[in-house]
Amino acid sequence: MNDMIFSLKLAVSGKDAKGIITEVLKLIPPNRIVLASSLSAEDQVLTHIVCSAVEKPRIFTIDTGRLFPEIYETMERSMERYGFHYEVLAPNTSEIEGMVGEHGPNLFYRSIELRKLCCSVRKIHPLMRVLSTADAWVCGLRRDQAITRTETEPIEWDDENNIIKINPLFDWSEGDVWKFIRQNDIPYNPLHDRGFRSIGCAPCTRAIGPDDDVRAGRWWWEEPEHKECGLHNRQKQN
Ligand code: SF4
Repeated sequence: MNDMIFSLKLAVSGKDAKGIITEVLKLIPPNRIVLASSLSAEDQVLTHIVCSAVEKPRIFTIDTGRLFPEIYETMERSMERYGFHYEVLAPNTSEIEGMVGEHGPNLFYRSIELRKLCCSVRKIHPLMRVLSTADAWVCGLRRDQAITRTETEPIEWDDENNIIKINPLFDWSEGDVWKFIRQNDIPYNPLHDRGFRSIGCAPCTRAIGPDDDVRAGRWWWEEPEHKECGLHNRQKQN
């Protein structure tokens, strides 16, 4: 795998987001690459780029069971625009029943440990299932999104999931994302027009002001260094 990482890093060096996707597709078959989409603005940019490059893209989303209705509406508009179907992953029913039965439906507000338990059951376990079917996953991480993401590289080895991780937007600003969306008339979650800048599950996301940190509305009751659901930094959780 080291050889593949080396080849990918060499191939994408100096390329923009579209160039990174193009080069990755020369080295890894499209059916072994999955794009992770939470229907965020970044993921919509990547959906646009991937759908331009691949006839049958694999784009997955995790339906945690606690999403905003606007997420489903954005899924519908995206499928209509680009002509694909999402691979929808759902949490394990028994795990949900056990967790909610023991801790209640809104356990996440009570402690970081319980919040991470909820993210594990509703997000990480379904994620592990889909990643086991691929050699690489494409993510919309940007360095300036959060202090937990400042070292994001375009090509990384994801030790936790034993898979290559591709971050084509690693050096984009939030302004770059929105400029691309407007220029290409890309469908996006209407909650962004109502002060929601980073959107996750409904009970764990709220609207923020224009001067707030972009992820200030996510798990707003926690300190910034804890603000990951574990999809991208499980090794930093404790
Ligand atoms: S974001 Fe909130 S509701 Fe969603 S999985 Fe994590 S803790 Fe649970």
